[in-house]
Amino acid sequence: MANYDVIIIGSGPGGYVCAIRCAQLGLKTACVEGRETLGGTCLNVGCIPSKALLHASHQLHEAEHNFAQMGLKGKSPSVDWAQMQSYKDDVIGQNTKGIEFLFKKNKVDWIKGWARIPEPGAVEVGEETHTAKHIIIASGSEPASIPGVEIDENTVVSSTGALSLPKVPKKLAVIGAGVIGLELGSVYARLGAEVTVLEYLDQITPGMDTDVARNFRTLLKKQGLEIVTGAAVQGVEALKTKAKVAYTLRKDDSEHQLDADVVLVATGRKPFTQGLGLDGLGVEMTKRGQIATDAHYKTSVDGIYAIGDVIEGPMLAHKAEDEGMALAEILAGQAGHVNYDVIPGVIYTHPEVASVGKTEDSLKEAGRAYKVGKFSFMGNGRAKANFAADGFVKILADAETDRILGAHIIGPAAGELIHEICVAMEFGAAAEDLARTCHAHPTYSEAVREAALACGDGPIHS
Ligand code: NAD
Repeated sequence: MANYDVIIIGSGPGGYVCAIRCAQLGLKTACVEGRETLGGTCLNVGCIPSKALLHASHQLHEAEHNFAQMGLKGKSPSVDWAQMQSYKDDVIGQNTKGIEFLFKKNKVDWIKGWARIPEPGAVEVGEETHTAKHIIIASGSEPASIPGVEIDENTVVSSTGALSLPKVPKKLAVIGAGVIGLELGSVYARLGAEVTVLEYLDQITPGMDTDVARNFRTLLKKQGLEIVTGAAVQGVEALKTKAKVAYTLRKDDSEHQLDADVVLVATGRKPFTQGLGLDGLGVEMTKRGQIATDAHYKTSVDGIYAIGDVIEGPMLAHKAEDEGMALAEILAGQAGHVNYDVIPGVIYTHPEVASVGKTEDSLKEAGRAYKVGKFSFMGNGRAKANFAADGFVKILADAETDRILGAHIIGPAAGELIHEICVAMEFGAAAEDLARTCHAHPTYSEAVREAALACGDGPIHS
């Protein structure tokens, strides 16, 4: 008989959430993790540490730019980088220990080490082989580089290295104006680095609503980030304490060189499946190197499932978590399901950027009749009081039925505000449903209501 009902490989947000839910639903569960601490990329070298640095550097920005106007006088704080790192490490520790506590509380066994699947039903970790009815691969992703660029985590770093640089660089070159490039680029710009972001496409944050992306770029520029779009990086020459980035501008093929103390490569991530033994098992992969699954996360091999960054879909911690919960429910005989039409995306810069559902570009492309309700934070009293009036809320609704199709927010607490719209979308709400819901005053949320009002008879404060 198998030792376990379920063994999950990987303890990132997909794996640990799945493990806890499996255990809560009565399945005997173990989770294999080879890192020293639980939580995967997100907790150890991703979402959580980057938010600590974003928070700390934002406080510095507030002190430097807004305190005096509020009557808070005095010298701005200076940066003690070692202390900021130790604050960040402490935040990581609290979170990873938290997962360890939750595993104990829910009776999930942590099998320490790196897993290999020698055959369906068996998981080998070091010298030991454990057996399970169901094996779930939640092994996540790793940074992907580009030709001509070798990450050494010294002068040429991935997001992992960028979170723990020995000092704040004078000049930081960032390759890729996606989520990582702009979040970490913002951190170092606020801490005093000269930051240049090189982006291959003509727009930053590809896939984002164009309207928002344009506004976002303007605001980042105001914060001192130099952004070069249409820049094809040809290679990086890493010297001992410096690097030279060679790139061509796609519009005229002109050649350029950028000198930097550190180069951050933020050109995407790729599924991490190394060492699992998938080839030998005959697990089918997609053309993009992801594990192919059916709608119930089953791979081509019976008894083996996969969730999170290692399968198709956006590489987002919360998408992985939802898949983890859904799969646990499926394995426990319930009807687990993820609604991929309502998965929010957030960039934790200042202002934050958040989106859910369709972009205006995609609706145009699909030829769907829609209406736009837009409201600027300039008309929001709370935002003005808090020096946070940059940005807007934009709601897209079906032209006939008024059903909400998507929403895009750039502004204060956008990553929180978006969830009101997610809930509305899950309930199939019309913009009018939001517009007729009383919103407390004064809150940023009123801007969401005003955007919903703008889909109908019009907002009040613009
Ligand atoms: P990304 O896909 O968000 O952005 C990569 C960027 O690099 C794109 O804009 C792309 O056009 C550009 N690029 C690619 N090749 C290039 C080249 N040769 N020269 C210049 N630019 C080039 O990837 P990322 O920022 O590395 O993030 C990786 C993954 O992690 C993403 O899936 C992201 O969603 C996820 N992530 C999410 C969050 C969040 O939700 N806040 C934070 C960090 C990471």
